[in-house]
Amino acid sequence: MNISTSEKLFNEAKQYIPGGVNSPVRAFKSVGGNPIFMQRGEGSKIFDVDGNEYIEYIGSWGPHLFGHNPPFIKQALLNAIENGTSFGAPTELEVQMAKLITELVPSIEMVRMVNSGTEATMSAIRAARGYTGKEKFIKFEGCYHGHGDFFLIKAGSGALTFGVPTSPGVTKGNAADTLIADFNNIDSVKQLVKANKGEIAAVIIEAVVGNMGTVPVSDSFIKELRTICDEEKIVLIFDEVMTGFRLSQGGAQEVLGVKPDLSTFGKIIGGGLPVGAYGGKKEIMEMVSPAGPVYQAGTLSGNPLAMSAGLAALTEIKTHPEVYKLLEEKSAYLENGWKENIKNLGKNFQINRIGSMMTLFFTEEKVTDYNSAITSDATLYGKYFHGMLNRGIYLPPAQYEALFVSTAHSKEDLDKSIKANYEALKEIA
Ligand SMILES: *Cc1c(COP(=O)(O)O)cnc(C)c1O
Repeated sequence: MNISTSEKLFNEAKQYIPGGVNSPVRAFKSVGGNPIFMQRGEGSKIFDVDGNEYIEYIGSWGPHLFGHNPPFIKQALLNAIENGTSFGAPTELEVQMAKLITELVPSIEMVRMVNSGTEATMSAIRAARGYTGKEKFIKFEGCYHGHGDFFLIKAGSGALTFGVPTSPGVTKGNAADTLIADFNNIDSVKQLVKANKGEIAAVIIEAVVGNMGTVPVSDSFIKELRTICDEEKIVLIFDEVMTGFRLSQGGAQEVLGVKPDLSTFGKIIGGGLPVGAYGGKKEIMEMVSPAGPVYQAGTLSGNPLAMSAGLAALTEIKTHPEVYKLLEEKSAYLENGWKENIKNLGKNFQINRIGSMMTLFFTEEKVTDYNSAITSDATLYGKYFHGMLNRGIYLPPAQYEALFVSTAHSKEDLDKSIKANYEALKEIA
């Protein structure tokens, strides 16, 4: 039997890279089979090393709001590279970037650029701790904030017991400062705040969740959360690494009408290059060095190539605010097509969608939090994923992820994806 180039490369990769990949979800572990090695992306399509083409809905896990390799980002990079790749000294591009972010996101008065979403969330927690002089923070079960030690914690057996590390290498000491609440459950927050009175520096939340699959936040929950943080002088952090510039110019906070004290960004903000950012209230951000005593640094932070790509993406967003209407139309079209298919096949699977983020959950239960999300049949998702892949549609290789629609998805792409969805569901269900 002929072995594919992807398989050959994966076998070789496994000898030199842990698990053959540089980020675990790429390895297809939760859907089975071997990962596909990519060669090129253009618009809504990616092309693998064996000459196959796919309509894809990952967009590099979020950055590609405009599809792969849009001409205005490519040109910005080509222009920037003429001047060199990195100086380790300030550039005008960084000033332009910071100004543009504060313009697009009203809650951001000051912003610091970093190199990934993980770095942004770690640094935001440090700034909140430095600002409040308190050490504990609350996160929500099922929300993902990158791989910083103190985020890799899940709830213990009871609501008020200590959290437990989800990864070897994370210490009990880290777990002790991380309090876990239930998403969309304000009582779980109130209990933790009461039991840890005066000790909580921050609450961090994906205000619209992508990382347990797409899960919307309830309006009353997020407003009450804001009120509790105000009353208890807790820094409210919205992790908008995924939702920032995807749901609207101003991110989830604009859609929800709730202003956090700090926000974190990544993905779209880098236009496909490795970038993150954290920012918010001036009085908190001025705690960060060298303005203040909270140390945080980065050799390549604000890198001119990364800033150029990010600036090109954000400038496109600023000058074309209608992209969000377009994304909503395309995404609603896909959602309705899939919902129709599910109904026609006599199934009751759940679809959650907010703007261009969407997840098909293989459960009949309404998905509103972690506990309802995990009622999904992940094995069935794996079969569905491969059914779609065989029909030229590349979805996230894991149930608990959001798929992303881009402005580059054409009606023809969406129609093909709706037809493939029907056939793949029929095959497995
Ligand atoms: C992707 C993501 C992160 C981590 O960003 P990286 O760039 O992968 O480190 C953090 N928070 C959220 C909400 C994310 O979606």
